[in-house]
Amino acid sequence: VLPDAMLKVEGLTSHYGRIQALKGVDIQVAPGELVALVGGNGAGKTTLLRTLSGVQPASGGRVIFEGQDITQAKPHARVKRGIAQVPEGRQVWGPLSVEDNLRLGAVLRRDREIAQDLERVYAMFPILKERRRQAAGTLSGGQQQMLAMGRALLTKPRLLLLDEPSMGLAPILVEQILTSVADLKRQGVTIFLVEQNAFAALKIADRGYVLETGKVVLSDSGAALLANERVKEAYLGV
Ligand code: ATP
Repeated sequence: VLPDAMLKVEGLTSHYGRIQALKGVDIQVAPGELVALVGGNGAGKTTLLRTLSGVQPASGGRVIFEGQDITQAKPHARVKRGIAQVPEGRQVWGPLSVEDNLRLGAVLRRDREIAQDLERVYAMFPILKERRRQAAGTLSGGQQQMLAMGRALLTKPRLLLLDEPSMGLAPILVEQILTSVADLKRQGVTIFLVEQNAFAALKIADRGYVLETGKVVLSDSGAALLANERVKEAYLGV
């Protein structure tokens, strides 16, 4: 138990009709941490993230963010508090330009640092700057993932939720995207990373959780999980 956790998930349950996708999940993320959640197909990873961002209702348990119970809070209220989600499958606006997509991330902001943060995103992903006037739909899968991450960063998040950023990407791009995730952590962004690519995620994570059929079955440091026999066998193909 982390005394100063930024995010505390306690006994969280979620249902799709009669199907229980989350069966009492306990997870904590401390400020500045990069925490990975790994698990196979259908384990409930996406459901957990959707419950954290508020687009999927919790049927029980609690989500505490910075000391406040947000279990029933609406998605936009969570964004305002500083929780940003990069959804699975990117979901960028194809016909809009790259830069307009990025600016969408900042629509709820009233501060004067938006231009500066936009430059920071361009510094992190130079290809987005090169293509800033291009329609987002013309970008490659990896570039769209960068764009989705950049848009989330423009909300000025305190906690970034990433849903399978490596999905569908060639190995070299997986490496590049996860290196960017590790860079973000070094810049001080707190990150909860959900990945089916357990090896890539645990390699950069401070701590990790393994989710199986809606339950956390293991939690340890990223390094310890990478060395764990059960993890190796089930998720690392060793
Ligand atoms: P994947 O990597 O395939 O996305 P996941 O770990 O993210 O898997 P979820 O998508 O969260 O898993 O699914 C968890 C469980 O909930 C699965 O048994 C799935 O079949 C079920 N489920 C997910 N979405 C729905 C839905 N809209 N209606 C009914 N059942 C659903």
